Amino acid sequence: MTERDRFRIAVGGLHIECSTFNPLRTRDEDFDLLTGESLLESPHFRALKTYDADFLPTLYAHALPGAPIAFDTYRRLKQALLDSLCQAAPVDGVYLMMHGAAYVDGLEDAEGDLLSAVRATVGDTVPISVSYDLHGNLSDRVMTSIDMFAAYRTAPHIDVHDTHCRALNQLFQCLTTGQRPFLCWCPIPVVLSGEKTSTEDPPAQHLYEKLAAIDETAGIWDASLLVGYVWVDEPRITAASVVVGTDKAAMQDAALDLTQAYWNARRSFVFGSPSGSIEECIAKALKPGPCPFVLADSGDNPTGGGVGDRVDVLRAVLASDCDNTLVAGIADAPATKAAFDAGQHQTARFVIGGSLDPATSIPIEIDAEVLRLVEGAAPRDRQAVLRAGGVTFVVTEKRRPFHFLADFQALGLDPAQVRIVVVKSGYLVPEIRTLAARTMMALSPGVVDQAVERQPRQRYPKGIFPFDDLAEFAPAVRWTD
Ligand SMILES: [Zn+2]
Repeated sequence: MTERDRFRIAVGGLHIECSTFNPLRTRDEDFDLLTGESLLESPHFRALKTYDADFLPTLYAHALPGAPIAFDTYRRLKQALLDSLCQAAPVDGVYLMMHGAAYVDGLEDAEGDLLSAVRATVGDTVPISVSYDLHGNLSDRVMTSIDMFAAYRTAPHIDVHDTHCRALNQLFQCLTTGQRPFLCWCPIPVVLSGEKTSTEDPPAQHLYEKLAAIDETAGIWDASLLVGYVWVDEPRITAASVVVGTDKAAMQDAALDLTQAYWNARRSFVFGSPSGSIEECIAKALKPGPCPFVLADSGDNPTGGGVGDRVDVLRAVLASDCDNTLVAGIADAPATKAAFDAGQHQTARFVIGGSLDPATSIPIEIDAEVLRLVEGAAPRDRQAVLRAGGVTFVVTEKRRPFHFLADFQALGLDPAQVRIVVVKSGYLVPEIRTLAARTMMALSPGVVDQAVERQPRQRYPKGIFPFDDLAEFAPAVRWTD
């Protein structure tokens, strides 16, 4: 920064979680792309406002979790990011906001490919700091491409902004002191679902509580612990500890301690909420008790990478004669169009479900009344509220979660007044958890099946828990320099 007043920092990223068990493909139209001023002003990059630097926007490509990225789509995104990085040159540093669980058709270790290309573009002397979701997977290629790292410490993720600040703090510490930190990581051969590793429940809660204390250790800048992403069949899947700092001995001790503690706890991870089959959940919901009873349809959770078009729970609540029940929502563009064609307050015959994954998702055919039609703010974003008997259900043109009360309110629905609320979700996000007087997670079928052991896998590394259970494991720290 000798000839300039302020640091020039390029910013961008790729943020998606991809399940290889999802038969769809994530394409150009599924991504929200942020460039230029829209990137800098986006809530995603709110953390930048607290730093005094010239931030140079490249490309931030963000999509709902889901299917593998089509190769051509990824190629275009990667090239656009690299081109804008070249245009931003010269830069003093790079900050990239990544998820860490992207999967590209025909290309394993997507983040390794992208980050190594960024490194090749900016050269070895420019420091690169990266933030990650704790459900991301790491590899040597990822880690040797970057200098600094911070992953979320909470699931549900309530520390997203804090994580961005941790990654930026490291970058600014590096730039202002001229000190290039060391980076080490330690793979942990355990990969579990997010529902067994919520940081609100032990043992993850206690493992993650260790991180703040490690930050206070002399010679350590930051520590992360990653659960990894389980619904992908590729060799890099792993949990991991990561430490950034300047004191290699202290860093190694911290990484080994975290790794050993996580390994020792591997058989103790259990679902944070009561769980059972769809039928068991409905039977429980129909027993007398406070309402609403929130039933999480976990196998088809779009925020975990699920398709979101399944009607297993809708079929079951209809068959059980549930009254005052709300199911939100089912991704079904043809049914949504049919509701708009029928018109509000009309009753028509609908085929619901299986519109995206007809091979495994079995539809139902029912008469339903169209209660409400809601136009979307964007194309392919219409929604319809239908009712069959005592069950109200929502069909949507796009895959989407219902994780906020505002999602219901936008449709004129009040889930607090309902006996049973069904959402496609794993662990409940804070707003829905607060809503729930009682809750159960249905171990429902779908591409993000919680019974991860029964999914077909060829590419996972041998010796990883819960697919295998090694009698012994000797943690080994890997350095990136
Ligand atoms: Zn996550």
